[in-house]
Amino acid sequence: MPYKFTFDLSRIPQLFFTELTKISYDKGIHRRMGIKLRDVIKKFRIQEATGLNLSDAIQLLEDLIDMEARNLLEMERFGKASKKALFLPHCSRKYMDSRCKAEFNSDVPTYLCAKCSPDCLINKATSLAKNAGYDVYILPGGSCISKILKLKRYDGIVGVACGEELRVAEKILENMNIAGQAVPLLKNGCSNTFFNIETLQRILEKNGG
Ligand code: SF4
Repeated sequence: MPYKFTFDLSRIPQLFFTELTKISYDKGIHRRMGIKLRDVIKKFRIQEATGLNLSDAIQLLEDLIDMEARNLLEMERFGKASKKALFLPHCSRKYMDSRCKAEFNSDVPTYLCAKCSPDCLINKATSLAKNAGYDVYILPGGSCISKILKLKRYDGIVGVACGEELRVAEKILENMNIAGQAVPLLKNGCSNTFFNIETLQRILEKNGG
């Protein structure tokens, strides 16, 4: 279930996320640290930068911390996985209309990037992942995850999505005993969504497929 609000964290300094994760993960209290979290949100002027109200900002940041923590916990198991895939959200394509030359394969289901635009985030992510030995899927929605994983067996999945979708994916991977690593969307919505390609690159290169 996607968020009921839209957000854009792409202008928030990376240091903010690092500090946030460190504070809460060290203490294991991020779900109970309301006041501290409010202080950090204030310090980094998150509400001004994103336009989010405080409770949405807290929810979003708690999800980001959860995701970071799960990445850490899963890192070792993921590193040992031998067959890996990357799941990308189709809404990060440069174009969402006929200018995107990707074909959709409904049997899998996935878009197949035709590399029409060198500056397309999905094109860049696909190249990085394929070079690192990953299979790549560009998903029209989270419901495709189970279908793909029933068609082809993987023991490690990197997923790019918003926090809520990552939570759903986490349950699926848990049930299928597949190790996961997550890259959060920093800007959500139906199109022009954005994630940090360097964050993805770090995960892919550290854990070649
Ligand atoms: S580079 Fe690929 S995903 Fe991006 S717009 Fe072109 S075909 Fe679509």
